[in-house]
Amino acid sequence: MIIDFHTHSHASDGALSPRELLAEAVDAGVQQLALTDHDTVAGYRALIDSAEALPDGMRLLAGTELSSLWSGVGIHVVGLGMDVDHPDIRQGLALLDSARRERAELIAGRLEKLGMPGALAGAEAEAGVSQIGRPHFAAWMVAEGHVADANQAFDKYLGAGKVGDVKTCWPAMADAVGWIVAAGGTAVLAHPLKYKMTRVKLKRCLVDFMAAGGTAMEVYSGRQTREQTRDLCLIANEFGLLASAGSDFHAHWDYGPKVGFDAGKLPVEVELLTAERIGAA
Ligand code: AMP
Ligand code: MN
Ligand code: MN
Ligand code: MN
Repeated sequence: MIIDFHTHSHASDGALSPRELLAEAVDAGVQQLALTDHDTVAGYRALIDSAEALPDGMRLLAGTELSSLWSGVGIHVVGLGMDVDHPDIRQGLALLDSARRERAELIAGRLEKLGMPGALAGAEAEAGVSQIGRPHFAAWMVAEGHVADANQAFDKYLGAGKVGDVKTCWPAMADAVGWIVAAGGTAVLAHPLKYKMTRVKLKRCLVDFMAAGGTAMEVYSGRQTREQTRDLCLIANEFGLLASAGSDFHAHWDYGPKVGFDAGKLPVEVELLTAERIGAA
């Protein structure tokens, strides 16, 4: 079965509209899809408002990717299948929306000190109605000629450990998990290898994640080697976590992942997270 439980649209930092993303998934033969924009369900709402576009037999799950903090590490928690009108998730998303604005001001202040005036207005203009994030700062820095490309913007200013990597605004990981679970959804630890934690620390994170109510982790994320996927499958099995798969597609980058993943091709037998297990409509 071809699934994709981690994708982005221009409701956050993806390049495609929600409908274009859906069309992309249909072309790729995706049978179960979640649009998981950073800290918003606006793209998902837009899609279900035009639900006639869904082909027969395809399932679209409610989704989002929440920013959070655990032990000083910025952790992303994917929420799937929750009732997006539940007050807990609504309040959580509202809090994250303010946190993103507050963070954008802090990032801009730091960049301005480094000789990049107008960073806040510039990034806001890049974001438009999308949930503002570091990629919008990167796009503005490229447009202003401060850096050659977005990669350089992350390498020099915005990436992990750099001046623009502000995490203090995010809620605790346990809170993010709690909002998803309270709203009847499944909480998934996103791309476990992206945090560059030691194996011991990752396992400590998983213990806390499960204690908060998390029940799944991504064993497949775009641009992973098969060996890494195998490793993550073994960890999921060791912890009794459901195994999720998502491309983390953002745009048609030459080197980037495509939408969709054939779950039959996982290197190790796992308890696969599916729409049926999530209990989504
Ligand atoms: P934010 O959600 O605002 O913290 O921004 C994080 C987003 O920036 C990620 O979801 C990626 O889409 C993007 N990103 C992270 N690292 C890089 C990088 N090195 N180059 C380009 N984009 C990146
Ligand atoms: Mn992103
Ligand atoms: Mn992420
Ligand atoms: Mn993502």
